[in-house]
Amino acid sequence: MGKENAPERYKNTGGRCTFDAIPEVSYDRGVPIRKKNNMLKAPENVERAKGLTYPFGMKWQPEFGQVTEVADGVYMLRMWLPFGLDHINLWLLEDGDGWTIVDTCVDMPDSRKIWEQVFEGPMAGKPIKRVIVTHMHPDHVGLAGWLTRRFGCALWMSRTEFLMCRTLVSDTGKDVPEDAITFYRAAGNDEDALERYRERFGGFGKAVSKMPDSFRRIVDREVFEVNGRYWQVITGSGHSPEHSCLYCPGLKLIISGDQVISRISSNVSVFPTEPEGNPLDDWLRSCARLREILPDNLLVLPSHQQPFYGLHTRLTHLIEGHERALSQLFDHLDEPRRAIDCFGPLFKRTISGDNFQLAIGETLAHLNCLIGRRMVMKERNEKGVDFYSQRPNAGDFETETGLV
Ligand SMILES: [Zn+2]
Repeated sequence: MGKENAPERYKNTGGRCTFDAIPEVSYDRGVPIRKKNNMLKAPENVERAKGLTYPFGMKWQPEFGQVTEVADGVYMLRMWLPFGLDHINLWLLEDGDGWTIVDTCVDMPDSRKIWEQVFEGPMAGKPIKRVIVTHMHPDHVGLAGWLTRRFGCALWMSRTEFLMCRTLVSDTGKDVPEDAITFYRAAGNDEDALERYRERFGGFGKAVSKMPDSFRRIVDREVFEVNGRYWQVITGSGHSPEHSCLYCPGLKLIISGDQVISRISSNVSVFPTEPEGNPLDDWLRSCARLREILPDNLLVLPSHQQPFYGLHTRLTHLIEGHERALSQLFDHLDEPRRAIDCFGPLFKRTISGDNFQLAIGETLAHLNCLIGRRMVMKERNEKGVDFYSQRPNAGDFETETGLV
């Protein structure tokens, strides 16, 4: 998606996450700002699919670096990413004599250059007054330190995301912890796969500019003002531990980050730092909670793909998709299997190379969720490999114990 918009030299990266290999290029391109509501007034762009409505269409891909107004005083800035998922949507909010920005892109020379152009062009030389980061993944937090230092403004972020980010950054340059090797061996990785993991370990810090030493904490349901309008923080969990969405009732929209995306189901993974974690349970509860507390008629502004209407429908699809996967996985465990033997019931595409680690994390999230529901049990063999199987009397737990 969107590769045709990438500068020539980026086309053969094969979507690999190679931060060290990103070339220094000049991204000399105008960044025209579209006229107010220009896109919203073009009904021929509207598309509908699977219960969602896309006011800008499903294939809308503004050029990287282009800034478009999507609601009164709310602008989308699309940036290029060196991953399989090749773009991120950042948000610029008019804020009196300056700007509030939401998310920042990976730290790489090209993204800094695009920001420079945006400062002078669409942002008209006005300062950034506050940088809000939805969550700690490098495509969101990458340039937060660089931007806040440059403008002398604060980083607004939830506490868990800020601390987790600082922890992960500090791993860069260290040896791979033995706990992590034990974790991936238990999932069924062979020595070759473990070696590939060793080589990639510590990549996080290379994609993130030096983090600020202090921050402004934001918390669930907190209300703040931008340009005379109220915005509210709505927290979700599962894709990352304390992810902030930003809801503006006056504009009837929500900046949803990676918590709600139209056609991508966000990665929900178990990581070696917390092998027994149950992030899928967090994710399912978050989806249900967002559907309960937020109105359905919001324009959803996600970090990837296109803005859309149909928040409740999408949240329902996300829940149903995972529940379907959980039940297929349960059926698959009629005999003991390793995590890496469980890709079949969970993923439609073939799993290899880049997405292998992500697939393991996601598979473990589903397995740990079934363990949490007392449906599945796990046993480690003498070689340190975990085997998962259906629990005898699986499903009778609640009725037998009376627990709620
Ligand atoms: Zn993310």
